[in-house]
Amino acid sequence: MSKKFYLETYGCQMNVHDSEKANFSLSGSGYEQTSDPLDADLILLNTCMVREKAARKVYSRIAELKHQRRELKRDSAAVFGVMGCVAQAEAERLFERSSDIRLVMGTQAISKLPQLIEQLDQGFPRAIDVHLSKDADFYEINADVRQTTHIAYITITEGCNKFCSFCIVPYTRGRERSRPAEKIIQEAKSLALQGFKEVHLLGQNVNSYGLSGRYRGSLPGVGGTARGTEELTTFAHLLERLAVESGLPRIKYTTSHPRDFDEEIVRVMDSHDNLCEWVHLPAQSGSDRVLRAMRRGYTRREYIEKIDSIKRARKDLSITGDIIVGFPGETDDDFNQTLSMVAEVGYDGLYIFKYSPRPHTPAAAYIDSVTEEVKTERFMKLNELQHRIQKDRYSRYLGRKVEVLVEGVSARSSSDVVGHTRCNKVINFPGAVDLVGNLAAVKVTEIKPNSLYGSLS
Ligand code: SF4
Repeated sequence: MSKKFYLETYGCQMNVHDSEKANFSLSGSGYEQTSDPLDADLILLNTCMVREKAARKVYSRIAELKHQRRELKRDSAAVFGVMGCVAQAEAERLFERSSDIRLVMGTQAISKLPQLIEQLDQGFPRAIDVHLSKDADFYEINADVRQTTHIAYITITEGCNKFCSFCIVPYTRGRERSRPAEKIIQEAKSLALQGFKEVHLLGQNVNSYGLSGRYRGSLPGVGGTARGTEELTTFAHLLERLAVESGLPRIKYTTSHPRDFDEEIVRVMDSHDNLCEWVHLPAQSGSDRVLRAMRRGYTRREYIEKIDSIKRARKDLSITGDIIVGFPGETDDDFNQTLSMVAEVGYDGLYIFKYSPRPHTPAAAYIDSVTEEVKTERFMKLNELQHRIQKDRYSRYLGRKVEVLVEGVSARSSSDVVGHTRCNKVINFPGAVDLVGNLAAVKVTEIKPNSLYGSLS
């Protein structure tokens, strides 16, 4: 009888995709996935450090699962494992702080999962791999382990070289590497052939694709820079090739970085219908002083210039972003500059975070001078502003026909289905479950604070 694994995923799309990779790796080793943690021989938590006290949450979740298993007298057989950013950052400390954890797998060790499990099967009390290499290979998987049959994630870069002072990613994901273009194109074509309607190209900073990680391979028809046997390409070139060659109806990408985002990307997006009308370009702050302390590598003016290039596009591109409020040293004046920048940009959506320090980052050593109360006040004020902006931005869709990829039955009403537009807005409309996985033309009839509502047209 095959063994069963249960996998719980926290955090971003990158983590969701890593879980798909772990699923692929385990399925090849004779494991079968279960959705019931009480029935599993191996319980893996794929962790994220974007939220505060991430490690502590891992220990409490494991204690909770252990308790539930003990109640059912299923305590003996399960192996508890931790993967993702907490595993990478905490490493051996996880063993020290929880005797239940027997497996720790860093962000580049997914392909080693079978060997790590074998070590445990051979009687080793613990197994760990948190090695990070700037030359690590990308782990290739099949389409059949994707979470859905219509949307798929494709990794194009991993790691980050930017070292923003608040961010732990360069320490947990390592140096930036670009996956060979041929592998990406191949994967995209195979997903299209299998009927996938949409892909999301993933990377901590997709815009720096090809700029820092070198690889070998030929890139026919692309204006890459040849260096001996190595050829480099840029994100814009890759995007154009995918648009032309993949056969995919919808291509989205995330996340962009203002320093590396350029007009060529906008030109390419404008030139190909299957490149969706959405750019997520995080600013983090509207104050040059704070941007410097964050080590973002651009000024507010430079950021606005990039935004203006997006607004000049022929297509109506929707713009979303991230802002951190209450970064150490942020004054009222700094925050007011963020407010005015947000008003100037007019985001279609904004993720607002209250600053909290992450271990091992430079900003963790700064004096966290903004009180929790002030952080909350600023959060509310910015949120309120964004709501007003968003209402206005969303209203331009009223009466418009939009293309929706239907993803499931609405959580609010069983007679409605839900999906995303090409501009990445959530939209609900009355429809039958057999629409799931298909593209539908929907007329927008109503604007909600964070979504649209419509009817089949
Ligand atoms: S660019 Fe993004 S992933 Fe890289 S360090 Fe900055 S915030 Fe983190």
